Order: sequence, then C-alpha cells, then structure tokens
Amino acid sequence: MQRDLKQLADTPFDITVIGGGIYGAAIAREAALRGLTVAVIDKGDFCCATSANSLKIIHGGLRYLQQADIIRVRESVRERRAMLRIAPHLIRPLPCLMPTTGVLKSKAAMLAGVLANDILSADRNRGVDADHRVPRGKIISRRELEKRLPGYRGPGTGAALWNDAVANDTERIVVEMVQSATSAGACTANYVACRGFLTKNNRITGVRVQDMLTQEAFDIRSKLVINAAGPWSNQILEKLDGEVAPLPYDLALGMNAVLKQELIPTYAAGLPCQEPGPDKGRLMFIVPWRGTTMAGTFYRHHTDAVDAMQPTDADTVRLLSQLNSAMPSAQLTPDHVARIHAGLLPCKPGHSAESDPKLLRHYMLIDHAQRDSVDGLITALGVKYTTARDVADRTISLAACKLDKAIRPSSSATTPLPCGNTDILHAVRNEMAQTLSDVVYRRTGLGATSIPDDATLQATANTMAETLSWDAPRIAEEIARARNPLA
Ligand SMILES: Cc1cc2nc3c(=O)[nH]c(=O)nc-3n(C[C@H](O)[C@H](O)[C@H](O)COP(=O)(O)OP(=O)(O)OC[C@H]3O[C@@H](n4cnc5c(N)ncnc54)[C@H](O)[C@@H]3O)c2cc1C
Repeated sequence: MQRDLKQLADTPFDITVIGGGIYGAAIAREAALRGLTVAVIDKGDFCCATSANSLKIIHGGLRYLQQADIIRVRESVRERRAMLRIAPHLIRPLPCLMPTTGVLKSKAAMLAGVLANDILSADRNRGVDADHRVPRGKIISRRELEKRLPGYRGPGTGAALWNDAVANDTERIVVEMVQSATSAGACTANYVACRGFLTKNNRITGVRVQDMLTQEAFDIRSKLVINAAGPWSNQILEKLDGEVAPLPYDLALGMNAVLKQELIPTYAAGLPCQEPGPDKGRLMFIVPWRGTTMAGTFYRHHTDAVDAMQPTDADTVRLLSQLNSAMPSAQLTPDHVARIHAGLLPCKPGHSAESDPKLLRHYMLIDHAQRDSVDGLITALGVKYTTARDVADRTISLAACKLDKAIRPSSSATTPLPCGNTDILHAVRNEMAQTLSDVVYRRTGLGATSIPDDATLQATANTMAETLSWDAPRIAEEIARARNPLA
C-alpha cells in the first residue's frame, strides 16, 4: 500500500472517506469490497486517535442483556464472530468474571443472564476457527472465584463467567483494514487533512485537502463524502459554514492504564467501583493483555478543543483510586503504570462538567440531504470499536442508494484481513509509516505495552533514517515526539 497523492487528486471517486480510525477504515474497506471506487484520508496516521486507545474488548453483548436490548446483543454477537473470523491472528476469546452480588446481580439473576446469552449467541462460533471458539458461560462459587482471581477479597457470593474477545493490537487491525481496502482498489493516504468541501449547485462534490507532510493543498473529487472523523465529526461539519447543524453530542475523555505486571492471569474481571459517588457500582475492567494488564475505564467531560486531549496526572490518580476501590489488594500507584491510553467519546450533551458523562449508546448514521438539505454528505459516528464493521455495512448500503448504484453483497464479515508483516522496513516501504511513532505504536507493536526506552527509539529511528533520508535533527525530533504517544 503506497501513498499516491497524484492518484487521489486525479481520480474522480464514488466516495471520499474522512478519517482513518476503525470507522473510516471499515467504511473504505466495505466500499471497496462491494465494488465502489473510494478514497480514504486521515489527517494523522491511520488509527492515531480513539481507535488506538480503547480497552481492546470486542464485546459479545452480555452487558446489553441487562438493558433487555436484544438487538444490540445480536449485533455484538455477530460482530464478535466476524472479528474472530477475519482477524484470528489479532483477536482471541477472553474469559471474563463478574462477582455475583445483591439481587439484580445475584447468582440466580446472573445464571438467567448467562443462559439467555448462550441461547441468543447460539451461532456465535459459525465459521470461527476451532481454537478461537467462544465457550458457554456459567456461574462459579466464591471459592472458585478466589482461585481464579488471586487476592480478591471484595463482595460476591460467586461469579458469572462468560466470554468476550480481546484484540492484541487494535492499531494493526485498522492498518490491515486499510490494506484490505487498498487490495480491493481503494486509494488510501495518511497525513492528508480535510480542510473544506467542494460544492456545486448545493451539492458536495469532494473535499479540499492538505498534505500534512508538504503543506500542499489539493482537491479530491467524489460523488459522496463520508464523514467518519469520530470525535472530530462536528469539526468537519463546521467547514460547511453553518449549512449543517452540529450533531447533538458532547465529548468525554475515556482513559485506561497499562499496568507493568499481569494482575490476574487468564481472566478479565469486571469489578464494581466502590468509591462513593456517581461511579459507585460501575464496573472497572482488569484485562490480561500481552503479558501486562489493561485496566479502566475512567471517564470525565472533555470541554477543551477536540485537538487538545491530554489526560492529566490528576486523571491517572482518579483512575487508580477507582481501580483500587474495586480491587484493594492491587494497591496501585502511578509507579505501576507503564502507559496511559486515552481517547474522546461522544456523550449526551447538556450535562454539567461536575456530573459523570453519559456516553452515547447508539451510533449515528446521518444522510445530510435528509437532515440539512445538503446533498452528497453522510456522517457515520460510532460508539464502539466492536460494531464498526456493522455500521460500515449500513453506511455503504445507504451510500449505494444515494449513488443509485447496484453493489455486491457485503463480504466484509468473512474476508480475512491480510495478516501483515511487522518488520520495521516493511512498515516504511509497504504500510505508509511516515514517522517513528507510526512504526513504534501502529505497525510493529514495539510500544504497545510501554513507551520504548531511548536506545530502542534511537535504533528504530536509525533504521528508518536510511530509507527516509532523515538527518540528525530529524531523528532527534522523531524520538522526542515518540516519547509522548498521546501528544
Ligand atoms: C478509553 C476508551 C476505551 C474504549 N474501550 C472500548 C472497548 O473495549 N471496546 C469497544 O468496542 N470500544 C471501545 N471504545 C470505543 C472505541 O474506541 C471508539 O468507538 C472507536 O475507536 C471510534 O472510532 P472512530 O474511527 O470513530 O474514531 P477515531 O479512531 O478517533 O478516528 C477518527 C479519525 O479521524 C481523523 N480526522 C479528524 N479530523 C480529520 C480531518 N480534518 N481530516 C482527515 N482526518 C481527520 C483523526 O485523525 C482520527 O484518526 C473505547 C474508547 C475509549 C476512549
């Protein structure tokens, strides 16, 4: 996959996708697999934002049973199955435990939930490799819970044991989705920012963009534009100078910590936060991940500019305090933290900064011709990594109607991702890596569990420098930037 800006500028496309997170990548792949011509751009690297910073859980839907939301349970089961089928090299089943407490989460209630979940997910393993099949759930005793969660002294008569899935590397999934889209004919480029829209007769006919590596501006022409810019969706719509009303969402910062040690082997645990206040009872997840632990999630309102997302030390202290309340034996301090992952999520508007953000539960798929009388623009704003493929499928079905084009049936749930090579030079030559951070954090997994030490950053930068003709000041600049993956 090569960054071909001449092709981007010279080819009229059916669709331009703005944003190369999981949503933009899945939409571009869906479009290309179904026979549409498509371009996808990101102002940074692919998967440089929220999609890199999730808790990595590919949800199976048990949580939605509590809300009796059967449609969402089925949606999650389908999507977990699809991800296990297309990316078995990056996703594996994850056994999860949640203590049984009180009445609503008693053993009897959770048994009913686990059984209902098994029935609703009867087809969960269709087409999934034998070693990636998701087992049934069950209820276990308090003694078994303590055996599986060494050191757990919190409440619980026993536990529900069910299965979700976990991604080893959410960044590589996105890069491989982009590769899959490229192999199916998509034109893809990172470091190309949308700066405005091209319009003709009250219809959008493409986007004005800027190459962030050379600062040169050019146009991409297409019959439709899909805004898949995640937390930046409203910022993209603002470029239409008030012709389109902003979408009704505020932003919440979500944050997880990668802990240096594996707190619990094998099982993920959903343990209720015991801190008094609005978070009491909210499940904190402790997930074994690449020999370490991913733990969270802490949420707060984000009221600064969307580009100014930076978790503070105080946020880390709050997150650790919530985790310690859920699992006091962990005694976590900032010294236990190897890396912080943080991203912005859409939440319900109109809540005060002091209250807890209420995350949006449903994706938005908006045809701006219907909503704002601006033709040629769709916004797809998702709320979960897990369901991006499903939203992409719906988005491209809508796009095909608008383009009045017959397209092939969707094959994105069964077409395997390319299972790429994680060699440094391969990333530079064949996967569009432009910076040291691209290689370290989004191609090779070198920085997945901790920020690499200076010797590793230096050696990696030196290797890249030979191919990319970096001089000494550029190498130093790349290393400085790679020390803060959230900057
Ligand atoms: C802490 C946390 C934990 C989470 N845990 C889970 C989980 O366990 N499971 C789960 O399913 N989901 C989880 N989520 C939710 C999930 O991560 C998000 O729903 C998903 O990643 C959003 O993807 P996206 O593509 O919409 O956004 P993003 O990944 O943010 O992508 C948007 C892209 O648009 C680009 N862009 C912005 N402006 C422009 C422009 N002008 N021109 C070009 N490109 C532009 C950005 O650079 C960015 O790359 C979690 C989220 C957070 C924050």
